[in-house]
Amino acid sequence: MVDRGLLLVLSGPAGVGKGTVCKALRERMPNLVYSVSATTRNPRPGEVEGVNYFFKTKEEFRRMIEQEELLEWAEYVGNYYGTPRPFVESMLDAGRDVILEIEVQGALQVKKKFPQGTFLFLAPPDLEELENRIVGRGTETEDVIRRRMEVARSEIELMDHYDYVVVNDEIDCACERIEAIITAEHLKKDRQVHKYMKWLKEVT
Ligand code: 5GP
Repeated sequence: MVDRGLLLVLSGPAGVGKGTVCKALRERMPNLVYSVSATTRNPRPGEVEGVNYFFKTKEEFRRMIEQEELLEWAEYVGNYYGTPRPFVESMLDAGRDVILEIEVQGALQVKKKFPQGTFLFLAPPDLEELENRIVGRGTETEDVIRRRMEVARSEIELMDHYDYVVVNDEIDCACERIEAIITAEHLKKDRQVHKYMKWLKEVT
């Protein structure tokens, strides 16, 4: 029997660098399975269907909600984002570690459904730096930037619901911290003990 994989939820305020850290982490850990989200927002230049997102109309997205195809979903700055459930569950069942890169409302929903998941809060080194990153992305209008900042402030307050806080001061350092967490999670007694119990039963 294969042990179930870890469900890792990488979340945190808008603009903190979740996408960049997740991308770097996937390059360092090719066995980590990345869950591609569904969204109703328009593709940005260079984004590819099925790689960055599954791009959906609002109607298609609502249908996915009704048919309970999403593990979680959230409305974020006027668009829907959600995690397709069947893919995540099949990968976990196959013993693969799966990472979700999602905003905080969705992360809280996953925590209710999957309390055994590992919840990582990616934190900015300081709030001024956070603001620079939101503005610095340069692809959004002023109104969207302002709303993203408001969301970011309230998101910081949600840190308390997470298992780990990973400061994103430098991408490589943040990745190393996450790799250390993944290793530690695999070594947790509860994930190991059944093998020894089985052996004990066999030898007695
Ligand atoms: P962006 O539009 O910049 O790609 O993503 C906006 C926000 O949506 C980011 O904070 C990103 O982490 C979050 N996001 C991406 N996919 C999902 C998802 O499946 N569920 C939730 N709840 N948030 C998501």
